Amino acid sequence: MQKDILIKLLPSEAASDNAIKNSIARSLGKKEKDITGFYLLKQSIDARSRQQVWINITVKAFVDEPFHQRDIQKVIFKELSASSKKVIIVGAGPAGLFAALRLLEQGIRPIILERGKDVRARRRDLAILNKEGIINPESNYCFGEGGAGTYSDGKLYTRSNKRGDINRILNLFVQFGAEENIIYESHPHIGTNKLPAIITAMREQIIACGGIFLFDKKVVGLITDNDELKGVQTADGDNILSEAVILATGHSARDIFRMLHQQKVLIEAKPFALGVRIEHPQALIDSIQYHCPIAQPGNALPRSAFLPPASYSLAEQVNNKGVFSFCMCPGGIIAPASTSAGELVVNGWSPSKRNNPFANSGMVVEVQL
Ligand SMILES: Cc1cc2nc3c(=O)[nH]c(=O)nc-3n(C[C@H](O)[C@H](O)[C@H](O)COP(=O)(O)OP(=O)(O)OC[C@H]3O[C@@H](n4cnc5c(N)ncnc54)[C@H](O)[C@@H]3O)c2cc1C
Repeated sequence: MQKDILIKLLPSEAASDNAIKNSIARSLGKKEKDITGFYLLKQSIDARSRQQVWINITVKAFVDEPFHQRDIQKVIFKELSASSKKVIIVGAGPAGLFAALRLLEQGIRPIILERGKDVRARRRDLAILNKEGIINPESNYCFGEGGAGTYSDGKLYTRSNKRGDINRILNLFVQFGAEENIIYESHPHIGTNKLPAIITAMREQIIACGGIFLFDKKVVGLITDNDELKGVQTADGDNILSEAVILATGHSARDIFRMLHQQKVLIEAKPFALGVRIEHPQALIDSIQYHCPIAQPGNALPRSAFLPPASYSLAEQVNNKGVFSFCMCPGGIIAPASTSAGELVVNGWSPSKRNNPFANSGMVVEVQL
């Protein structure tokens, strides 16, 4: 028999397979030896009670029958022939990479043009930016393989419920090397330190199937004939032709918006949010969310060792405008996310352990147009 069961455990119990098995047996009125195995389907923290923080876990339990590991649905990408149809993708951020994988599934070879460097080479430019404050306008926190997401936090949750099949995307991340816990945690998070290897694995898969990556290839214009798109022009003077072009250049490529406007391509503004990034000691956020004393500097955190650094999410209406926290990074770092000299733009990220002493988040107000 297989059964999905919701159990409520102390944080220390939730970290122990034996305690989970014991709890499954108790809730099914079975002996522990009858439970042949289990895996987690959902996990969330319930810190509403001031007396005790609980972990809610939904498990798939196998009872009196052989245990099967979780079935990660892998997408099989096939190698395409040289004669397959090709489509240009401008930008190797999350949108560009996932578009490339989708094209391969449809039997189309993607040609990915990226203004920045590959994900490893990009790291050197970030080091110079962080240490010396010198910005490379083509290779920074926003530009380069993996896009703005790579050296970001890697938080994988969204407030929107109109984003298609989220589980499919989580499964693909696991297929390319992310930890399996992103599939069941209520607030999945990959972590900056783990993302570059995942991006590299995606690129290798795309190339193995016949896709092409060209780095240091900045697109500066569209080639059109009688209002029909024929291809793109690059900054180094190449004309690359294709029947279709996917522009996946993200929020920061302001030059692309200018180019589209100059070339009389219809573009539409959308509402956005603007604000500041705020930083607090992580110990303060832990104490507020988990109802524990604030740790003194230099001392170990007083939150349970079985609880992750706490996060928060705030939303308020002020003068009919939404004000809300955004991209909260527990145990994180504030990053300079400008793309050219003289700008000040910040964002936040965390390593997978979220073990820095400060928490940060964006506090933004919506700007309606
Ligand atoms: C520090 C930081 C932390 C973040 N944390 C999170 C988080 O935790 N969770 C989350 O969901 N989101 C986070 N974000 C936001 C997230 O990264 C973006 O929403 C996401 O990257 C957008 O994906 P995209 O593919 O549309 O665009 P981008 O990631 O911006 O990718 C666009 C790509 O196009 C390339 N490009 C641009 N112009 C050209 C051109 N002319 N020619 C060729 N190539 C071009 C760029 O170099 C870039 O690689 C964070 C962003 C930053 C900067």
